[in-house]
Amino acid sequence: MKPVKINAKINGMHCASCVTAVENAVTKLKGVKNASVNLSTEDILLTFDPSQISINTISNAVKSAGYQLIEDNSEAEFNKVKIKEYQVNKIKIFVGFSIGIPLMVLMYVPFHKLMWINYLIFAVSTPVFIFLSAPIFKNAFVAIKNRTLTMDVMYALGIGIAYTSSVLGTFGILLTHDFMFYETAIMLASFLILGRYLESRARGRTSEAIKKLAAMMPQEAWIEKDGEVLKVPIGNVQKDNIVIVKPGERIPIDGIIEEGQSYVDESMATGESMPLMRTVGMEVIGGTLSKNALKIRVTRIGENTFLSQIIKLVEQAQTSKPPVQKFADRVVTYLIPAVLAIAILSFVAWYFLFNSSLIFALTRLIAVLVVACPCALGLATPTAVTVGLGRGAELGILIKNSEVLELSEKARIVIMDKTGTITDGKLAITDVKGVTVTDDKLLALAASVEQYSEHPIAEALVNAVQKQNSKLLDIGDFKNFEGQGVSALIESNYIMVGNEQFMGSKQVMISDIVRQQAVTLKNQGNTVIYIGRQDNCLGIIALADRPKPESAGTISEFKKMKYDLWMLTGDNDVSANAIARQVGIDNIKANILPGEKARIVSQLQSDGNKVVFIGDGINDAPALAQADIGIAMGQGTDIAIETGDIVLVRNNFRDALAALQLGKKVMQRIKQNIFWAFAYNIALIPLAAGLIYPILRIDFKPEFAGLAMALSSITVVSLSLMLKNYTPPAK
Ligand code: ADP
Ligand code: MG
Repeated sequence: MKPVKINAKINGMHCASCVTAVENAVTKLKGVKNASVNLSTEDILLTFDPSQISINTISNAVKSAGYQLIEDNSEAEFNKVKIKEYQVNKIKIFVGFSIGIPLMVLMYVPFHKLMWINYLIFAVSTPVFIFLSAPIFKNAFVAIKNRTLTMDVMYALGIGIAYTSSVLGTFGILLTHDFMFYETAIMLASFLILGRYLESRARGRTSEAIKKLAAMMPQEAWIEKDGEVLKVPIGNVQKDNIVIVKPGERIPIDGIIEEGQSYVDESMATGESMPLMRTVGMEVIGGTLSKNALKIRVTRIGENTFLSQIIKLVEQAQTSKPPVQKFADRVVTYLIPAVLAIAILSFVAWYFLFNSSLIFALTRLIAVLVVACPCALGLATPTAVTVGLGRGAELGILIKNSEVLELSEKARIVIMDKTGTITDGKLAITDVKGVTVTDDKLLALAASVEQYSEHPIAEALVNAVQKQNSKLLDIGDFKNFEGQGVSALIESNYIMVGNEQFMGSKQVMISDIVRQQAVTLKNQGNTVIYIGRQDNCLGIIALADRPKPESAGTISEFKKMKYDLWMLTGDNDVSANAIARQVGIDNIKANILPGEKARIVSQLQSDGNKVVFIGDGINDAPALAQADIGIAMGQGTDIAIETGDIVLVRNNFRDALAALQLGKKVMQRIKQNIFWAFAYNIALIPLAAGLIYPILRIDFKPEFAGLAMALSSITVVSLSLMLKNYTPPAK
């Protein structure tokens, strides 16, 4: 059976070690192919074989690892759980600090001789301590039962030691009455909860872009049925229903306009800020804003709508892990046992080697346990990836896999296709030159053969004939020769339409006069196609394809960034050169078949290069797949979602530049985050262990350690949130 891929939510994670714990618990199950958890969005991306394992079994495994799987991927369900958790935590933080702070002050008062005060403190602290830290202990026990060391184990150890020794001290068992540090236990637990609370709120903001997109989808639609117009929930709308859009409303669902015309603001779906004119026969996207009234016929519903597909795609990409994260996850698994060792070592060293007081040595132990939380390290990548990919989606740049982020830093070679990528692919016929037939007949023959082709040339020819109100002829035995041309049978003659090589391969004779005319037209930057009947060339048609307005500017930006630029095209070299000159590309390869494009990419790769290929997704699929980063120009709503690692919804060439730039920015942010996360840990562990105590006499209290850890996580999340401000280079 085919494995299924689903997205679900995981509740209860705080740290990178939680991510590994969940992933391990799930991946070891039989039938689970892959599980990837994003700490930032609290998403899990599961790939499993439903004939071998059920989602319930997976959910139970997650539960016994100490977390909660919420299968219903609806934000609403998850938000309910979160909001309740936030409320409980707010109360805990309030109670914790209102007891902890007075206790801290009390500790400076020499009251230890008065036994009843000690008992009173015990009586007040104990219920507070249990209220605050019960979940931490519960998580720690589950982790130990599963033989994993998570941060909760460390925290439980830290606050557990502080509390237990205080109790022993209070009652004079084994320890003296000096051992009173209930305030440490309570303050530490309070800081911990505060840190997690703040971090979780900030983390929630990392996926705002996608939540905003989801909120664009209207929940109801007006449908026309048997002459009546009724309001129905969006889930009841069926394909081919007629939907009425009122002026100024969001178009509720994907469809084709049947009646009316309107400016439509598609910015939420494509990033295109200018409203676009949409008239009868054109596609519109559900969720976009229509200025005037429209009547549309529904083409896609439910999960298949454009916006749902984008949301799903980006969510999955946000949960995929770039290699740096896998590295960070591995570091974390070693960090925790290492820290446990350092904590014990510093205790032993202080107490036995330097003869410090037991209480000082214990404080060092607790401080190290707490300060070593690799939380920030676990957040470094997922928060940056989530924000960066979300920002991309807002701009109409869909990054489908976070692995390309790392590659965007390494790639130095950018290869691009001509037609539809650098040029707008909307060809205009400039000349029709019939030799043995009239010009009109020549055009009619060519367009008829092209009627089943999706090539931009085909579109131009068919449109031209339809404009003349002429009819296309019936054809038989249609064949498409990718990157060369097309052929079909008309009135028992084979008609060939394509480039010069194609004519050659079909033994069509081209006269010198025709050849001469073709060269003149090509020199003007036109694409010239030949029309052959059996072995006879009937004439040529020239089509002009202008560079997109943004192409020349973008090429010069690419050059400034020192990329090695190549243009590959299936078109002839004269036309290709003319376009290349106009946009400023120096390296071109013309007359290239689509399959050869992929070969050229792989050749460059075998020399150790990381290669970017920018193509229009129609006939460049092999090259897009072969490239390290395949950037596909989307064709409006007919977006070639399958091809390419990055899809540019707007079909704007400049977005290719923005995509690489955004990728690099996210990578830089990840590296900065990892640096900061490590810096906190590396700087504070020696401090907590008391290494500088002999010099500076600073007693680094465990409470401070708790605060510092909260700060480090918040620093990292805030840095990631700054990626929201990314703006592409101006036009
Ligand atoms: P590009 O690499 O610029 O996107 P293609 O690989 O799609 O171009 O096509 C290369 C050349 O092959 C075109 O310039 C044209 O001459 C010819 N060709 C390809 N498909 C067709 C077609 N359907 N009709 C006519 N000519 C075609
Ligand atoms: Mg192309």
